[in-house]
Amino acid sequence: MVLKLLRSPAEWLLLFLFTATFSGCGGSQSTADPRSSSTTSVTPGATATAEASKTTLPAVATYSILADWVTEVAGDHVRLTTLVGPGGDAHTYEPTPQDSVALSKAVLVFENGLGFEAWLDRLFESSRSKATRVVVTREIHGRTLSDEHGHNESDPHVWHDPQFAIQMVREIELALKKADPDHSGEYQQNADRYVAELEELNTWILGQITMIPESRRKLVTTHDTFGYFAERYGFRVSSVMGTVSSEVSDPSAAQIAAIIEHIRREQVPAIFAENILNPQLTEQVAREAAVKLVPTLFTDALGPEGSDGDSYLKMMRSNVLKIVESLQ
Ligand code: ZN
Repeated sequence: MVLKLLRSPAEWLLLFLFTATFSGCGGSQSTADPRSSSTTSVTPGATATAEASKTTLPAVATYSILADWVTEVAGDHVRLTTLVGPGGDAHTYEPTPQDSVALSKAVLVFENGLGFEAWLDRLFESSRSKATRVVVTREIHGRTLSDEHGHNESDPHVWHDPQFAIQMVREIELALKKADPDHSGEYQQNADRYVAELEELNTWILGQITMIPESRRKLVTTHDTFGYFAERYGFRVSSVMGTVSSEVSDPSAAQIAAIIEHIRREQVPAIFAENILNPQLTEQVAREAAVKLVPTLFTDALGPEGSDGDSYLKMMRSNVLKIVESLQ
C-alpha cells in the first residue's frame, strides 16, 4: 500500500534512508554507544582490530598498591592515574585539583573501600565524574577495630593478606571485562597469571614465618596496619598510635608510656617504622623501651620506583624478610 504511493526516485531514497536509520537505532539500542557499533560494522577485519587495540580506558586508582594490581590485569589497555602515590598516606590525603580532572575523565575508578579513602566521595561528587566506581573489597567482610573512644571502624588494610589480594584482583578483572569486553580474554589471562604469583607469595610467606618462634610473633608498628596479616599468619599486633582513624593525632604522653610498658611486658623483640609515616615517634618509643627499631616496612603504599618495594609482590617479600630477620 505504501509502495504504491511512492512516485519518484527521491521518495524511494527517503524510504531507504528512513528504514536504514530506523533499523540502525533499533540494532544498537542495547549498547551504550551507537557510534562504536557502526564503526566496527563498516570496517570489519584489520581496521577494526587496530581500532580496538588502540583504545585505552581512562581510569583512576586511589592508591599505589591498587594501581599496581590494575596495571597487572589491564596491561596497556588502561591509562591509569594514581591519586595517592608511592610513600603517600591515604588516611590523611588532601586531594588536588588535578585529581578532580582525572576523575572527571575516568571511565573506571578503582578504590579500596572500608573507609580507607574518606575524602573520595566528596571529591568524586565535585568532579562530576560519570565513572563506574569499583570498590575492590565489595565482597570482603572487614575486621572491626575500636578506637580509644569506643568508636568502631572497619580496618581497611586488607592488602597485607595475599588471599584478600586475590579477591581484589578478581574484582578488578571483572570490572575491566565489563567495561571493555573486547579484551576479556587478555584480562582473564593476566589475572590468572598474577593470581598464581599471589598464591606462590602466600606459600612463601607461610614458609618464612616458621622461622620465627611462636612466642616472638609480635608486630609493633606506628599505626594499626597489620591486622589482616596477623590473622593470616598468626601474629599478635599492637601499634604506637593505635586507631586506624583518618584523623590520627599525636598520641599523648600517657599513650606513649602505655605502649612502652606493653613492649616491655610482652618482651617484644623489635618494633617497625613505616614508609608512609614520619619515624620520629617510633624512634622515640624504641629508644625509651630499649628495643631494636627495624628498617622501614612498606605498609599503606609502595616504595619509590627502583626500591625493593616498588611493586606489591616486592613490597610483601621485603616486609616479610625484614620481619623474619628482626624477630627470629
Ligand atoms: Zn593505614
